[in-house]
Amino acid sequence: MLQAGPGGAIPLESDPVTLNVCWPHLYQPLQSLAGVPSFHLPSAAAAAPQPSLWSGGFVPAHLSLCGSPSSSLKLLLCHNSAHSRHTRWGSFLCFSSAGSVSEPAEMDHPKPKVLPAGHHCPSLGMWALEAGSVRFSVPPSISRNSVMVNEPGGHGGPNPCLEGSSIGRESSKVRSRCSTRGLKPERHERLREKMRRRMESGDKWFSLEFFPPRLAEGAADLISGFDQMRAGGPLFIDVTWHPAGDPGSDKETSSMTIAGIAVNYCGLETVLHMTCCCQSQEKITCHLHKAKRLGLKNILALRGDPVGDQWKEEEGGFCYALDLVKHIRSEFGDYFDIGVAGYPKGHPDAGSFESDLKFLKEKVSAGADFIITQLFFEADTFCHFVKACSEIGITCPILPGIFLIQNYHSLQQLVKLSKLEVPQQIKDKIEPIKDNDAAICNYGIDQAVSLCQTLLASGLVPGLHFYTLNRTMAAIQVLKRLGMWTEDPRRFLPWAVSAHPKRWEEDVRPIFWASRPKSYIYRTREWDEFPKGRWGNSSSPAFGELKDYYLFYLKSTSPKEEELLKMWGEELNSEESVFEVFMHYLSGEPNRNGCKVTCLPWNDKPLATDPSLMKEKLLWMNRRGVLTINSQPNINGQPSSHPVLGWGPSGGYVFQKAYLEFFTSPKTVKALLQVLKKYEFRVNYHIVDVKGENITNAPELQPNAVTWGIFPGREIIQPTVVDPVSFMFWKDEAFALWIKQWGKLYAEASPSQEIIRYIHDNYFLVNLVDNDFPLDNCLWQVIEDTFELLDRPPQTDRDMEAT
Ligand SMILES: Cc1cc2nc3c(=O)[nH]c(=O)nc-3n(C[C@H](O)[C@H](O)[C@H](O)COP(=O)(O)OP(=O)(O)OC[C@H]3O[C@@H](n4cnc5c(N)ncnc54)[C@H](O)[C@@H]3O)c2cc1C
Repeated sequence: MLQAGPGGAIPLESDPVTLNVCWPHLYQPLQSLAGVPSFHLPSAAAAAPQPSLWSGGFVPAHLSLCGSPSSSLKLLLCHNSAHSRHTRWGSFLCFSSAGSVSEPAEMDHPKPKVLPAGHHCPSLGMWALEAGSVRFSVPPSISRNSVMVNEPGGHGGPNPCLEGSSIGRESSKVRSRCSTRGLKPERHERLREKMRRRMESGDKWFSLEFFPPRLAEGAADLISGFDQMRAGGPLFIDVTWHPAGDPGSDKETSSMTIAGIAVNYCGLETVLHMTCCCQSQEKITCHLHKAKRLGLKNILALRGDPVGDQWKEEEGGFCYALDLVKHIRSEFGDYFDIGVAGYPKGHPDAGSFESDLKFLKEKVSAGADFIITQLFFEADTFCHFVKACSEIGITCPILPGIFLIQNYHSLQQLVKLSKLEVPQQIKDKIEPIKDNDAAICNYGIDQAVSLCQTLLASGLVPGLHFYTLNRTMAAIQVLKRLGMWTEDPRRFLPWAVSAHPKRWEEDVRPIFWASRPKSYIYRTREWDEFPKGRWGNSSSPAFGELKDYYLFYLKSTSPKEEELLKMWGEELNSEESVFEVFMHYLSGEPNRNGCKVTCLPWNDKPLATDPSLMKEKLLWMNRRGVLTINSQPNINGQPSSHPVLGWGPSGGYVFQKAYLEFFTSPKTVKALLQVLKKYEFRVNYHIVDVKGENITNAPELQPNAVTWGIFPGREIIQPTVVDPVSFMFWKDEAFALWIKQWGKLYAEASPSQEIIRYIHDNYFLVNLVDNDFPLDNCLWQVIEDTFELLDRPPQTDRDMEAT
């Protein structure tokens, strides 16, 4: 037997030897090395093995070769993914002709499970054969290429991994064909373009300022609030920068982290404040690079307030915001949109209002795109400022900073910091109610509404900028009273989009993460290219490791352990007690602890489906241990404006295939497979266990479109697919959630934990797609037939098997 040596090298003798070599399907071999005469590596597809003999997604090849005494065979493998192309000296398995197997050498890629030749999961394979299923397989073992996916009937193109130079050409071609650019123009625009378009159309916007809280819990609350604020349609949000709070760090509470989350996970156009205070030029450059990496595209460039009484320039740093603007433009060109601060009454340190205005003009001339003003109390102050700006040739948008008076203390604080005078008429109103927070808050809302109305009527404001002080309710009330808070229930795509520029053209995702979009975004954050149009040409998407998923944000926004125990059961007695949890989640009814089950490990939020459409059926299935984690009804052309099912531009029609995804027991799977024979040409299925043994009747590498939309004057948009390759990555996450989120709530080896472990180890994850979307959804019938089969007396069952 020949052994793969360290680094995956196999020593060769001078006598010819025939080797059976195989490598992980995620990789393509590039070349052999070390004195081995050149040899031909058969194409992966040509070398496809007998399915039952191979497990773990390995691609085999038969090589006949010989070497000199010192030579060895070593394969340079190229990661075979559109998202992550890299090369590795890789591991491979090597068989002698007797079929014995060597261990794979280490490789820094998640290793697929490998069974020795001839071994496979006995039960699943047997049932598949019994049920006459089309194919029993493990994760796909041949790479998907552009011909198979994007060019039906075309010619086999070069392997993008082998011909680096063709990669760009291919993807731009695919992009020009498949891209749905223009689906929502704002998604592709930079902030200054959005402002310009809104100004041209007279469509006034609003934006919201937040500051990073001091504690992690506060950060989690703030981020949850972003989702709420997003619903009202702000043009952007901005996050302030406080030198004392380590603002550029990776801390949960840093300005950088909060702004990065707002862009990536909440899909908000975000402006990050940055000051020159206490920072060298190098440090600032580092922060800017980091902001760019995180997908931030807008900076509010500020000098910052002095730490002591007097402003002192940091050694090697900048003296004025102007220097920072110049620095950003010289180091980053036009990448960032830049905002700067303006002072309607002049900056307190300025020699005069006029000199301050002159410096403001310099900031704009150096490359600032818009101005946000310091707070002010009277509309005239702002109008006078805007006119003065215009007179000296400042033409960029000027956004009035609106301060919402919410309590006496915060007003005092702000006035002290900004060195502003509160007008007497406001003082007169506030002083008598200064100990009554609710009354002050109401007054603050009235005062802000009246100020904003006057500003809007002046015709001098393109939009309103609110200093929220992280209290969103008052801002929402003001905006509602102004008629500017317009919650549009229609979605741009069926899933929550990210605002990271590299994801601008992303318009298709696997359906599996529908209830965990943040997990999907996190796991794909390293991709530098996203599937577009038809799940692009991604053959083996390189999803980030599951362990990476437990990042601060996603952890901290989920309920605490005690709350989860109340929802999911302090003690589980049987599998049925788990079924009950699923049912309470679906019904929305309180459980026996009087507690509503608002989330499950696979569903971050309460059920969003229109109850009338699915709820009763889902409850019926879950009662019998078909534990649903994702589903959608079939739709045959509903208007895109439909309040629940609609998405995309108006005037279109949306379509869906019925989809069900659930965990269920081996017994149910066995019956289901029998039933599915009847639906072979109508229903596609994937059934997988925790070890990755997979049974499917779907084409191995072909995504199945399950949601699509047709819109006036556009290509068909197809935002969700059932993709067999991604399903194997999702399956790891879906199974792990049993243990990592649910099982871990209980004491080690306790009966409750054992029940969860039993389900994790034995249940199957199943997805079903009914392809006949214009007909009545047959998946309910599939499940009903399955239950009927399970309910038949045992002898009838045997008879059936015999037939
Ligand atoms: C909308 C807004 C957001 C803010 N966000 C933050 C924040 O997140 N974090 C924070 O710490 N602070 C923030 N501040 C406060 C701000 O940092 C302070 O007001 C600071 O004192 C001035 O910053 P600036 O960017 O306006 O400075 P600059 O524009 O540099 O002006 C500072 C002073 O220097 C003068 N000046 C400017 N250029 C020159 C020049 N070339 N030669 C001589 N004099 C010059 C100006 O007239 C002014 O008096 C914010 C202020 C506003 C209005």
